[in-house]
Amino acid sequence: MSFLSHLECSKCKAVLDADSVQTVCACGSPLLVRYDLGEAARNVSPKELEKRAADMWRYRELLPVRDAKHVLSMGEGWTPVWRAQRLGKQLGFADLWVKDEGLNPTGTFKARGAAAAISRARELGIRILAMPTAGNAGSTWALYCARAGMEAVVVMPSDAEPLAMRECVLAGARTYLVRGLVSDAASMISRVAKRYGWFEVTTLKEPYRLEGKKTMGYEIAEQFGWRLPDAILCPTGGGVSIIAIYKAMCEMLEMGWISGKFPKLIAVQSAGCSPIVKAFHEGKTESVFFEGAQTIAGGIRVPKAFGDFLVLDAVRQTGGTCVAVTDENIFAGIELMGRLEGSFVCPEGAALVSAAKKLRDEGFLKTSDRVVLLNTGTGLKYPDLIRTGDLPLFAPNDELPRH
Ligand SMILES: [Zn+2]
Repeated sequence: MSFLSHLECSKCKAVLDADSVQTVCACGSPLLVRYDLGEAARNVSPKELEKRAADMWRYRELLPVRDAKHVLSMGEGWTPVWRAQRLGKQLGFADLWVKDEGLNPTGTFKARGAAAAISRARELGIRILAMPTAGNAGSTWALYCARAGMEAVVVMPSDAEPLAMRECVLAGARTYLVRGLVSDAASMISRVAKRYGWFEVTTLKEPYRLEGKKTMGYEIAEQFGWRLPDAILCPTGGGVSIIAIYKAMCEMLEMGWISGKFPKLIAVQSAGCSPIVKAFHEGKTESVFFEGAQTIAGGIRVPKAFGDFLVLDAVRQTGGTCVAVTDENIFAGIELMGRLEGSFVCPEGAALVSAAKKLRDEGFLKTSDRVVLLNTGTGLKYPDLIRTGDLPLFAPNDELPRH
């Protein structure tokens, strides 16, 4: 099943046992999951994958769960990649695509990370998970915990999406609000987790979430016939998507599943919270805490990402870049996606629309480039973001106007 071999520190390269419960390295850095890729390549091939079920567990040899009986799945992954022809034309691209993560269970790409990490937590005998969240990750993890029969404690900003709170309550999670940001929620959990016997699942302080997210990279390669696109734009808060897609590409390259150049990985943040964009353009390897973070895209309101150095490295290694867009750009992106593609995307995904336009206008991306926008969730979770204005109201006997 899994060719999981060990955990490796992303900074000091220390090697840790993967079969005991681990959080971060002794040096304080995130741990990356390593596999025996040679053995994996001998046992599974892209051809073999074609026969498998259309979910992320089709890559089970490269996922961390040892025994299939611990796999907790609601059908996450293998989301569609669709061509955005009309939007492409508007933005100046001839080969524009959307990888639509809104079709995952719970309506967000967070389902992948939850499925991998909660399956592995269950396998390792963990009972109570505690998670700070901007909203969507918490509700997804709460729902997956419910299905696993595990307890979830979720702490989120009091101004998080009300739907995320409701989903947590629905799932029976202990749900707490904080008058602050996700970073405050994280410190509150850290202060008590050990004492209460909670397992903290803060982004990248638990090694297995990244593995679920990684399957987005495998899918993009497989769905394009193992020929990688020229660029992938990712909304970037904690940065897990970029780190994970880059990790997937490195693994696939080592197994001989892909060759040639990696796609440019492009991190998109909101101008109201853009620590990684700032660090990138200043040539820094780490970001600085972004004061006064504010944006309508709650999923990318992360003032300091724990894995920022890994994001910056992946962006630079692939010749990518970092872009910030305003909230007004995000609203415009939601409207364009709706009018031109019939798709209601989440605000984080909508941020990619004007980022792509900006990079096309500046010439960073070419018309002929195959560009993928990673829409991380469905807009149905954010009905209030659609601005309808005052709609015409008639009496039943009125005659409707032609236009
Ligand atoms: Zn280390």
